[in-house]
Amino acid sequence: MKAAGALGSAQPKRLVLLGATGSIGRSCGQVIAAAPGRFAVEAVASGRDGAALARTAITLGAKFAAIADPAGYADLRAGVAGKDIEIAAGEESMLEAAKRPADLVVSGIVGAVGLAPTFAAIREGRVIALANKETLVCAGYAVMQAVERFGARLLPLDSEHNAIFQALGGRHIAEIVRMTITASGGPFREWSAERIAAATRAEAIAHPKWSMGAKISVDSASLMNKGLELIEAHHLFAIAPERLAVVVHPQSIVHGLISFLDGSTIAGMASPDMRTPIAHCLAYPDRIESGVEAPDLAALGRLTFEAPDVARFPALRIAREALAEGEGAPTALNAANEIAVAAFLDGRIQFGALAPLVERTLELMRAAGETPTPSTVAEAVAIHHIARDRASALLA
Ligand code: MG
Repeated sequence: MKAAGALGSAQPKRLVLLGATGSIGRSCGQVIAAAPGRFAVEAVASGRDGAALARTAITLGAKFAAIADPAGYADLRAGVAGKDIEIAAGEESMLEAAKRPADLVVSGIVGAVGLAPTFAAIREGRVIALANKETLVCAGYAVMQAVERFGARLLPLDSEHNAIFQALGGRHIAEIVRMTITASGGPFREWSAERIAAATRAEAIAHPKWSMGAKISVDSASLMNKGLELIEAHHLFAIAPERLAVVVHPQSIVHGLISFLDGSTIAGMASPDMRTPIAHCLAYPDRIESGVEAPDLAALGRLTFEAPDVARFPALRIAREALAEGEGAPTALNAANEIAVAAFLDGRIQFGALAPLVERTLELMRAAGETPTPSTVAEAVAIHHIARDRASALLA
């Protein structure tokens, strides 16, 4: 067995956790706690729950805690009273957290609000474990250019991309004929189109395999999440859209597959628990215990696969079209989807109205010439805001 710190006197790996109190952040905390002495948490950052952030900062021994919403600052300050933890609030504080000296930055903030801090870490040339898929969906070209320019590195933390990264094993992309990500199919996999259209908030966020935040749970139920992940894979692995595929696999044991020129296909498998890809990224290139058992295939008995039904799940079709179209279409898709999902979670629209709202927003923006290729993050953010405005206006 390899001891922790294979280099003998290795220093703890310094971490920054962006999105420290969310689903990814909490799983990170479990993996970190299970590997004493291996990691040192430099900074934690989150959106608005100051009390939760204070608890996280204390538990993880963080030196700095940043809360995006200044309204959460009082709770954060009260929570860390008497502790030697530096605190700050506001958007700037998120950037400060992202730029703290670190060996690895975990980008686990949900939504496009995670873009600016993630980009700040890229500009510092950090290694970034990327769970925030919106960074690449919103501004993929600009982000990947910046990764190269500033000598940063992205480690895919999303379970499918992490599996593909592991299966890829450093092989060249030209040797790959097909890259496949799996979808659990979500809670509505066997529902009729009519029943899906009328699904409630509670039904949409009750995911059968993964425990996640509300936004990504709704995206999983609509299969928009899979569409966003195709766009993410396109940028992460520089692979052409037509070589990307989705297969529905309800057991969520196989997460990604790579088919090579010679017909060999390598599947990345793990139990459906984010601690596995998190442990892989945190320890990379080493391996540490994650607290998750490897899949027991005999106990599982059977693994099944089926083609996704884009008639019942039009979000996947719309996302694929945006990916094929390229330019600013994925940026607009993501932003319109954020508005649509927020409206659904607030009870303002039905589940069946999600995909049409996104599609209509894209149509309006195409017609108005509002989806040029965003060559900088600022241009991507501009398209993002136009799409949010367009989608909001359609809602009203
Ligand atoms: Mg995923």
